Amino acid sequence: MPLPVAVLAATFGGAASAFVPRVAHRLAVPRGAPPRSACPSCETRTDSWVRAGASCRCAPPPMCTVAVSALAAGLLGAAIGPAPPLVALLPAAVVGVLLAAIDLRCLRLPDPLVALFAAVTVLPLALGALASGEPGRLVRALAAAALTGVIYLLVALLPGGGLGLGDVKLAAVLAFVLGDAGWPAVAIGLLAPHLINGPMALSLLLTRRAERRTPLPLGPALLAGALLALVTTR
Ligand SMILES: [Zn+2]
Repeated sequence: MPLPVAVLAATFGGAASAFVPRVAHRLAVPRGAPPRSACPSCETRTDSWVRAGASCRCAPPPMCTVAVSALAAGLLGAAIGPAPPLVALLPAAVVGVLLAAIDLRCLRLPDPLVALFAAVTVLPLALGALASGEPGRLVRALAAAALTGVIYLLVALLPGGGLGLGDVKLAAVLAFVLGDAGWPAVAIGLLAPHLINGPMALSLLLTRRAERRTPLPLGPALLAGALLALVTTR
């Protein structure tokens, strides 16, 4: 295992994600609402975007966000090593943590952030596949994204499918990333999110913290499933 790469990657992930809480706090608003400009708890103005640490003076330090991001980035560094895909996937991990934080707070995956996630992954991975003389990787990634997009869109269109269009878009982008790595990664990435969210939904039901119709965010499970797929198939 390339330990120095894993440590450097974890340090980057942890440090960069310290800036996530403020951005998540401002963007976790209902669809169409402007970014939040004041703290709902203490009414301090929060109209800057760049602040490391807690989202507001009254909030606790974001230990969990930093730990999850450092762990995700460290695992990617250990699995991929000092190879070009890591350059695309480390910033993607931080954007992924931001998407998960917003989805957990308001059940939304805002389009501009999913587009940012696509921009930091799809373009570098596509260029990497072409530059290394492996256009087959790009074809496989596009096929995986199309296939996953269609499957998720069909489920989203079913009555009571429980999927939002943000989930469909994020799943398709993640399938591109996993398709670049290989079909086994795509298969794990398709299955794992439901194996993660299923038991979680069941435990919420059994402890009566949710009802059958309570919507659950899928974004964090999609991202965790993709991470699992990447690190187990490398
Ligand atoms: Zn506050």
